[in-house]
Amino acid sequence: MDYEQFFADRLSSLRDDGNYRVFADLERHAGQFPKATRYREDGSTQDVTVWCSNDYLGMGQNDKVVSAMHAAIDKCGTGAGGTRNISGTNHYHVMLERELADLHGKQAALIFTSGYVSNWAALGTLAAKIPGVIVYSDALNHASMIEGIRHSRCEKRVFRHNDWKDLDRLMSQDDPAAPKLVAFESVYSMDGDIAPIKEICDVADRHNAMTYLDEVHAVGMYGPRGGGVAEREGLMDRLTVIEGTLGKAFGVMGGYITGSSNLIDFVRSFASGFIFTTALPPALAAGATASIRHLKDSQAERQMHQANVARVRAALDARG
Ligand code: PLP
Repeated sequence: MDYEQFFADRLSSLRDDGNYRVFADLERHAGQFPKATRYREDGSTQDVTVWCSNDYLGMGQNDKVVSAMHAAIDKCGTGAGGTRNISGTNHYHVMLERELADLHGKQAALIFTSGYVSNWAALGTLAAKIPGVIVYSDALNHASMIEGIRHSRCEKRVFRHNDWKDLDRLMSQDDPAAPKLVAFESVYSMDGDIAPIKEICDVADRHNAMTYLDEVHAVGMYGPRGGGVAEREGLMDRLTVIEGTLGKAFGVMGGYITGSSNLIDFVRSFASGFIFTTALPPALAAGATASIRHLKDSQAERQMHQANVARVRAALDARG
C-alpha cells in the first residue's frame, strides 16, 4: 500500500465534502476577554473577537485563578511528577476533589486529564465491570460517552433524544433484574437544549437503574453555586454520577466525576484511563479550585452571561 497516497486521498475527499478543518491560530489577550490576535498563514496578524469560546465566563483570565496558578507553580513546579498512584497525587488534587464533591453534594470526586477522558474512562469501566449491565444512552450524547460505552462492549440501547417515554419503553423490554445505567447530558452542546432530568430520573428509579449525567456545558453556569442544571432544579441527589469539565466555564483544564465513596473508589481502582496516565499539573488543580470557589460565591458572571444571552436573543428575534 502507498500510505502517503492513502492519507492524501482521504484528505482530499474530506475537502471535497467541505469537512476539512483549518485551525484559527490564536493568541488570547489576558485582561481583554474575548479579544485575541489571529496569526495568518501569510505571516500577517489580525485583531479578532472570539465569539465561540467555551470559556463561557472568562474565568480563564480571572485574577484569582491566574494568581492561584502562579502561586502553585512557584510552590510545586510544573508537572505532577507521576501517575496518581506513583507519587503524582499532589495536595492540590486532593483539595480539588473535595471541592468538587461539595459542589455536587456527593461523597467523593475523582479528577481526570479532561472531560473526554472522564466520560470515556468512567463509563467504560462501569459498563465493562458490572456484570450484565445494560447502558441506555441518549441519541445525542457526546462522542466521549459513546466511545466509553462502545469500549466496554456492554449491551446498549439508544433512546430518542430527551425522550423519557422512549427510554421507559426500551427499559420495559429488558429483564427487570438486569443492572441498568442511563447516560445523558444536561445541556446538549450542539443544540443548547436541556434534558428533562427529573423525568429521566423517575424512569430510571422505576427500573432500578443508575443515572450518569454529563454537566460539562452547565457546571459553573447554572445553579446557585454553579453546580449545573441538576443543582438549579434541586435534583443532584437523584443522580448516581455527575460528570463535568474544568476546561469550559471553570476556564482551566481537566475533567471529573462525582458520586458515592464506593463508586468513586471503584473507578479509581479499576479505570485504566485514570491509573496509567500522569496526573494533572498541580497548578491546573489550584486554578480550577480557585475558579470553582469563586463561582460558588459569585453570581455576577452567571447573571451577566444570562443578560448577554437575552440581549443577543432579543436582537436576533427582532431581525426575524
Ligand atoms: N462532554 C460534552 C457534552 C462535551 O461537549 C465535551 C466537549 O468538549 C466533553 C464532554 C469533553 O470535555 P473536555 O473538553 O473537558 O475534554
